[in-house]
Amino acid sequence: MTVPAHPDSRSPALSGVALAAPPLALPLTGATIDRASDLRDDRNEILRLLDDPQAAVLGASADRVLIGDSPRPHLLRRPLAGNINPHQPILLGLDAGAPLFAADLDDPEAASQASDTGLGRLVTLREAGLLLPQAESGLAAYLVALLGWHRNHRFCARCGSPTRVRQAGLARRCPSCGASHFPRTDPVVIMLVDDGCGNVLLGRRIGWEPGRFSILAGYVAPGETPEEAVLREVHEESAVRAHAPRYIASQPWPFPASLMLGYEASAERGGAQPPRPQPGEMVEVAWFSLDEVREATGPEDRPANNEHASGALRLPGQVSIARQLIDAWVARGGHRLDS
Ligand SMILES: [Zn+2]
Repeated sequence: MTVPAHPDSRSPALSGVALAAPPLALPLTGATIDRASDLRDDRNEILRLLDDPQAAVLGASADRVLIGDSPRPHLLRRPLAGNINPHQPILLGLDAGAPLFAADLDDPEAASQASDTGLGRLVTLREAGLLLPQAESGLAAYLVALLGWHRNHRFCARCGSPTRVRQAGLARRCPSCGASHFPRTDPVVIMLVDDGCGNVLLGRRIGWEPGRFSILAGYVAPGETPEEAVLREVHEESAVRAHAPRYIASQPWPFPASLMLGYEASAERGGAQPPRPQPGEMVEVAWFSLDEVREATGPEDRPANNEHASGALRLPGQVSIARQLIDAWVARGGHRLDS
C-alpha cells in the first residue's frame, strides 16, 4: 500500500520542512497468505491439509497473539496435534504451500493453551503490529479478526441456535434454520482535516487522559458512503464543516472488527466560533499547528513540551493509521496530499 509522491514537491513548505511523502507501509496490513477459497468446500481437501506434515497452527486470544522471537519476531507455528478441533478446523490458508490453521487461546476447551506458550510469548496485537515483518503483521490482523468473529458469533443471528463452522472457518451455518453467516467487517472512517494553512483538527475522546488527541473517526452509518460519513462525523464531533474528502489508505483494525478507511479533508478555520466537542463523545476538539504536532511526533516515551488545551500533546501510537496519516502530513510540511 503506497501513497503516491506529493503532486507538487516544489511548493514551499510552511515551516521549512522539505516536502516528502514517505510511503504508508501500514502495520497490520500486507498479509501474503493464499486464503485457499477454492479448497474450502471440499472436505477431502481439508482432511488432506490436516494431515500435511507442514501444517501448523497460529494462536491468538481476544487481544493477544502468540509469537516467537528467533531468529527474528514471527507468529509462532505450532503443531496441530492437541491445538485445534479437527472437526471444526479454522483454516487461515496456505503460507508458501504450508497449511496454516487458527486456534482461539480463549476457547474454554483449550484453556491450557494460553499458559502453555511453548517457545513463544503473548503480545498485544498493537505490539505485534510494530514487532513483526509486514506480511506477518497483516497475518496477525487476519488471525485476530477471524477468531474474534467466531468467538462472537457462536449463535445464529436469525433464530438463536448454536451455529457450526463451515468453509473451513470462513463461514458459520445454523443447523436449525439453515442460515449462513459470514465474517463481518465494520467500516470506520478516520480523517485528517486541515485548514490549508498548516493547522490540523484533533479531538480528545471521553476517557482519554488530558493531552491525548487524535484525528477524528467514526463508523459508516447504514445507507451512507464513506465520503458522506467523513463530512457527517467531522460536523457531529466538532461542529466544523469539512469538504473535499479524499481517500488515502486503509488498515484492518480488529478491535474487534473494524476496517479503518483513512481520508484527508479540508475545512475553513475562520469564524469566531472555535470547534465545539460533541457532548457525550468528545471532551475537546481544537486546531493544532504544524509546529505543535511536529513536536509531539517524537519518540512516544518523550512527551512534547506543548501546553495546548489540557497538557502536553500526545498522539496515537505508531501502529495506527491515525498516527501514520498525521506523520505523513507533518512530513509534507503540513500539506494534504492534494493541496
Ligand atoms: Zn438459525
